[in-house]
Amino acid sequence: MSFAKLGLSDPILKALSDSGYQTPTEIQKKAIPLILKGEDIIASAQTGTGKTASFVLPILQKLDNGETVRGRSIRALILVPTRELAIQVEKSILAYGKHLQLSSVAVYGGSDLEENKQRLAQGVDILVATPGRLLDLAYQRSVFFNDLEFLVLDEADRMLDMGFIDDLNKIIDRLPSHRQSMLFSATINPKLRYLADTVYDDAVEIKV
Ligand code: AMP
Repeated sequence: MSFAKLGLSDPILKALSDSGYQTPTEIQKKAIPLILKGEDIIASAQTGTGKTASFVLPILQKLDNGETVRGRSIRALILVPTRELAIQVEKSILAYGKHLQLSSVAVYGGSDLEENKQRLAQGVDILVATPGRLLDLAYQRSVFFNDLEFLVLDEADRMLDMGFIDDLNKIIDRLPSHRQSMLFSATINPKLRYLADTVYDDAVEIKV
């Protein structure tokens, strides 16, 4: 099985071969075609399984086929529990999107708020954020969600463990309901399912 068979476009395939990837991992084989098709998904996948690429690649491809938005409205939001993960996901976006013209930024607690605002004012397609910092930026009208097409909750179980549930609910409340949503978690327990119910009505479940 090759990446091309999953339906990925040439600029993305080129970036993957630049990264030295030859074959998709299990989660990538399962998630990429579903996300390209427009499905909402809930996936149980541990770190190290290649889960980041499984949502970044199809989102990049779908954004590349769409219209670039001007102003402070983002098109894809990836919520993560920690600064480290934010930086790592943003790095993956840069690597896999190197032959595309999409912009991205990572914002997280402890980073320079003014710098975040200036960057967002320039227009950003993909925002990787920790929940608290994202809310600060939203309250200060530095980021808008009117044109949001994609929402990812990455390591959702860790976000719940870290007490982000209220922040997540406040964020989800602000998002347009017409969007594609993806939830990734190492474990899927009842609390997680409850969160998932607030994110979408019905999702395809993937296990690896
Ligand atoms: P993740 O589970 O997203 O944290 O990814 C774990 C590691 O696997 C990262 O260092 C990725 O760069 C790498 N990786 C992801 N997908 C592939 C692939 N298809 N082939 C080889 N390495 C990969």
